Amino acid sequence: MRLRNFVFGLLFFASAQAGAGSVPVTMCFDIDDNLLFLPTKISIFKKVGADPALENEIRVSTHDFALIREQLGRPGKYEQYETRKTPETSSFRTFSDAGDGPGGRNYILEDVKEMIEGGTFDANVGPAWKSFVYAMQSEEAAKHVCFATARSHHPQEVLEMLEYLVSKGKISRTPLQKNLHCVGGAENPSAEKAKVFREMLAKLEAQPVPNTWPKIRKPSGTGKAAYHLWTFSDDDWGNYEKTRDVIAEDMKAGKYGNIKVMLFFTGLNNPKHAPEAIVLDGQGGWRPIERNEEQDVARMLKVQGFDCDELLRFDPRANAPGH
Ligand SMILES: [Mg+2]
Repeated sequence: MRLRNFVFGLLFFASAQAGAGSVPVTMCFDIDDNLLFLPTKISIFKKVGADPALENEIRVSTHDFALIREQLGRPGKYEQYETRKTPETSSFRTFSDAGDGPGGRNYILEDVKEMIEGGTFDANVGPAWKSFVYAMQSEEAAKHVCFATARSHHPQEVLEMLEYLVSKGKISRTPLQKNLHCVGGAENPSAEKAKVFREMLAKLEAQPVPNTWPKIRKPSGTGKAAYHLWTFSDDDWGNYEKTRDVIAEDMKAGKYGNIKVMLFFTGLNNPKHAPEAIVLDGQGGWRPIERNEEQDVARMLKVQGFDCDELLRFDPRANAPGH
């Protein structure tokens, strides 16, 4: 049911945006393992003075790194390992600009080209990919789509990668460059994502909600009213939890009263947490997306004439890699 809720939730935003009356819905996406399973690897390095028998450098997928990053330097398998951000040995060197200026190497574009040319792209789209593709079909919806990634590319590089996907027919258009937030340069990317979101929500809150907008289930779960809609999906529990807690705390303090915030945890290999979809309740807590909100979705989709059957059958796990 939770996975089904997840899909319904994302569709709800896309459908509301694409329909007549054009409700500006904000959809924010993490990239790695949420939109795409890219082949980019992260290096972890053996600490100075560690056991000589250990490998000096281990290259891991983003998928695995989301799980082991909390274990680095702590008792266990990764106690003697760390990440580095020095120019010579950066753990994230292919997650950022190559440093050779415009027209130089673009690592994220290279990774996506490798997938397309190798025929592996379609098998490596992530849990939120179809929602993103769907949003890109509408020019209006695309304007309100954001990326929040712990990569530290210049946004122009991410845009070039997306333009390449347009040229290959994988998406209809791209989001706006100003909405591509690459926060990898920050000391704490989870906190930086939350900071970006708070700024977005504050701007949104300042815009009154027209009473012509469709009335939807209130964040509390009881009754209906019109709201701004704002959503974020991420496969990393740390990012998801930080975003949830920071926004919930702001709401408890009385902020964002005209915004309905929905969050999607899409991690497929987290041993402690299954994918889930929640609505922040506006009072500092949260609740699962409810069945009656699915009915809101179905009603809106029918009115707007979308054939949603194919999308509603989409199971995020169908695209999970086999490791
Ligand atoms: Mg991710």
